[in-house]
Amino acid sequence: MKGYVKIFTYGCQMNDLDSRKMYSLLARDGWEATESLKKADLIILNTCSVRQKAYEKALSNIGRLRPYKTQKPSLIIAVAGCIAQQKGRDIISRMPHVDIVLGTHQMHRICEAVDGRREEHRQVVDTQFGEYIPSLDIVPDQAFMTPAHRAYINIMQGCNNYCSYCIVPYVRGREISRDHAGILEEVRGHAASGVKEIFLLGQNVNSYSGGISFSELLRRIDRVDGIERIRFTTSHPKDMSDELIACFGDLERLCSHVHLPFQSGSDKVLELMNRRYTRTRYLGLIEKLRKARPDMAFSADVIVGFPGETNDAYRETLSLIREVRFDTLYSFRYSVRPGTGAAAIEDDVPPEEKSRRLSELQGIQRSITLEINQSRVGTTPQVLVDGVSPRNPDQVHGRTTQNAIVNFAGSPSLISSTVRVCITRANPNSLTGDREVPAAGREALPI
Ligand code: SF4
Repeated sequence: MKGYVKIFTYGCQMNDLDSRKMYSLLARDGWEATESLKKADLIILNTCSVRQKAYEKALSNIGRLRPYKTQKPSLIIAVAGCIAQQKGRDIISRMPHVDIVLGTHQMHRICEAVDGRREEHRQVVDTQFGEYIPSLDIVPDQAFMTPAHRAYINIMQGCNNYCSYCIVPYVRGREISRDHAGILEEVRGHAASGVKEIFLLGQNVNSYSGGISFSELLRRIDRVDGIERIRFTTSHPKDMSDELIACFGDLERLCSHVHLPFQSGSDKVLELMNRRYTRTRYLGLIEKLRKARPDMAFSADVIVGFPGETNDAYRETLSLIREVRFDTLYSFRYSVRPGTGAAAIEDDVPPEEKSRRLSELQGIQRSITLEINQSRVGTTPQVLVDGVSPRNPDQVHGRTTQNAIVNFAGSPSLISSTVRVCITRANPNSLTGDREVPAAGREALPI
């Protein structure tokens, strides 16, 4: 055994998958995962720089590792992910207790970098962008897939869109897609080992170009025996094609949920954001998706307080939220990301006004989410059981096809099975139910 490793993950599902891949590579190389910082011989921070808060938290946590290194000089500290890509050697100049900096295209080199540091005392800084990203093809070990019935698969990385507030194209590079043959082989392998849900990941999956279109990829995955559910994220509204929307009409295994970030309800702000669609186009997509799949649930991202967002423009965002009625909304206060296009525009919405808008918007969304949850009481959805409920060991929790979280009384033996649950209570962010068959004659919507 080479030692114990602990990875801290910040940010999105893509980073989470990268961490699982690094754990897998290190496990194959003789490392064992640990939760104990004191025990760890290798600590990796897999960082995110998309929002100022995540960026500051990761940087401050890198600093807080210094005493561990003082106590155990053989400890290796590595920084990976978006901050590593953005800051490169600067990280080691500012924090010399860091041994390794690996950018977003170089994560597959983790074992080699650690060995180099241990054996030759070399500090490793590698932030090169390559023609291809080898880590796309790494399949995580079963031990690092939780829950075991859901497989996350990164089908592409990077982004060509340059939304003016976003750092991603600079830290993840331009779009690179994984070949469809490798993806399908991975899906078949997962199906053979009991995986029921495939979750496709990418910064903009709609522009996937790995030899076939994204909609064709979904159709081929849908034909793999054993796969019950297919999900994907994230979509860009400008790239959501009619072919993709048609998949929701044709493919039963494709879940009734789309995450479709809209960012603002105002055309003027959308233009400043370089989003390249209008409010009308966005609402048209929602309508088409609902037509293709009437029980469709929507989630989205929205930013308030973007430079130039007047009160009227902000009101347009609220009216879009009321019109669409999202199940879930991830809402953020605008924060400047240095190096992006929007950093050159005056950040003219005062901080207290950004906070006021965010809090009002979140209040409106809370009411909508609760109303949607209430409308599901009495329905009997199929729930894929993910695990024991964190707050009640006598309950298990899982998700409906619409991605709603359901808690109900049940034993851990139900984990990984799909069961029908009668919804009995609506909570602000989840549903409660039981496995009883609904009373005869009771109205039950087949969601
Ligand atoms: S589509 Fe826009 S917001 Fe999404 S990753 Fe690309 S640049 Fe960022």
